Amino acid sequence: MTLPAESTLLAEFTYELRPVERGYANRTLYINLDDNTIYEKPVTQQMKDVFTGGRGFGLKLLWDALTSETKWNDPQNELIIANGPICGITAYPGTGKATVVTLGPLTENIIDSNVGGYFSPFLKFSGFDALEIQGKAAEDVVIFIDGDTGKVTIEPYSFEAEDSHLIGNILTAKYGGDEKGKRGVAVLSTGRAAEHIRYAAINSTWYDVRRKEARIKQAGRGGAGRVFRDKKIGAIVCRFTDMGGDKNGVADMALIRKAGQRINKEIADLDDSQNQMRKVGTANIVDVMDHFDLLPTHNYRFGTHPDVSKIDMKVWKEAFTQGLPDGCWLGCTMSCSHGVDHFPVQTGPYAGTCVLVDGPEYENAAGLGSNIGNFDAQKVLELNFYADTYGIDTISLANSIAFVMECYEEGLITKEHTAGLELNFGNGAAALELLHQMARGEGFGVMVGQGIRYMKEYFAREFGSDPVFMHDIGMEIKGMEISEYMTKESIAQQGGYGLATKGPQHDEAWLLFMD
Ligand code: SF4
Repeated sequence: MTLPAESTLLAEFTYELRPVERGYANRTLYINLDDNTIYEKPVTQQMKDVFTGGRGFGLKLLWDALTSETKWNDPQNELIIANGPICGITAYPGTGKATVVTLGPLTENIIDSNVGGYFSPFLKFSGFDALEIQGKAAEDVVIFIDGDTGKVTIEPYSFEAEDSHLIGNILTAKYGGDEKGKRGVAVLSTGRAAEHIRYAAINSTWYDVRRKEARIKQAGRGGAGRVFRDKKIGAIVCRFTDMGGDKNGVADMALIRKAGQRINKEIADLDDSQNQMRKVGTANIVDVMDHFDLLPTHNYRFGTHPDVSKIDMKVWKEAFTQGLPDGCWLGCTMSCSHGVDHFPVQTGPYAGTCVLVDGPEYENAAGLGSNIGNFDAQKVLELNFYADTYGIDTISLANSIAFVMECYEEGLITKEHTAGLELNFGNGAAALELLHQMARGEGFGVMVGQGIRYMKEYFAREFGSDPVFMHDIGMEIKGMEISEYMTKESIAQQGGYGLATKGPQHDEAWLLFMD
């Protein structure tokens, strides 16, 4: 489309609005940021049959776009955000997820990472089963998909905000307007660390009507946030304000409602006595893991710690604001996405302000807590807040810090290498400084931000550190840091970590509980 001369838009594309049919919008959206091309592609029956689901669609589109020579930072690489056929159903929990698929910088292989928030259902209801972005913009841009009017635009990113907790709120207000409008806006963004580290995350918002604030969830694994910034994307916004319970176009709503009633009743009846997810989210399993000697502690050297009561579920239950509908998609009765309100930040660029911390979830409490020997709940929260808003995957972050702490304690690296930081286990202040260095793009933190595999090679080559010992203590497979479970009691979990396609991630290989 030709733009008017006075327009600040870089590109505009209009499309026909039509309802979702039996879970499919039946088209995907393609954007090329090299030349600002935008067009839609049909979804074929073969695509639905063979590549069912968000990850399948993402892999299919990526396969069609790449060659065996493509590198993660080539313009040819794509960032794909896809949804599956049950996406957006509000009768039962867990249907709000997006799957992000790309050729990632951490493993230099194909990765996928799923994330909650409202973006994925809004994308489907706006008319697309997937969003495919190729090329690199010349300057930072906002991609705006408007499911209200049937328009997609590419606009210059003209905001000073560099971190996700600000970007989410600013763009929700800009594209949503009033309180009602904000409910219909979802924003993807990352933070300033994504310019410098390999395990950068993408944040995905939803507007919390009670807190009057944009909340965030993370597509953390594999470094999709680095690809996001490499393409000079400042944010991707989707607006869909005409929400209702029937937007997925299901074939048999009565059956869906019946299934929803059953699972919602089970959750209501059993959660309090079994998991307390509705009060404390996934952080409930800190206690379980510690009890079974499986809580990663001091870089996976131990599975339990006498100070665990300082970061266990009681602590988080008290810290979380209770009684709010903390679902990351509409209709989720599990509502596990809890947050700590009015948290006073002590360090870094937001010191002296009070913020909403989304989490901690289990991985953050264990990784940024026991695994780095940090049993100070305030520091866990501050690490959690900054990792999220800077756009850092907390699992890779935690393991990378735990790794350098063990290297430091064992004398493989010294203060000379860390520019004076004393990286003993339990030094939460030093961990925070590493995080701020990742965001500033300076100091030893940037090295830690390249991940364990990179550090193992670098330390051996440049510092003469023992490669065999580092191989033993560096908790990564395929270049991705393993998630926060000791696997010594579960051969199946070990195998699952080793065989999972994108790398050792618990959503593909959570076999621990079966064992
Ligand atoms: S709130 Fe928790 S259970 Fe509900 S959809 Fe989000 S992640 Fe899933």
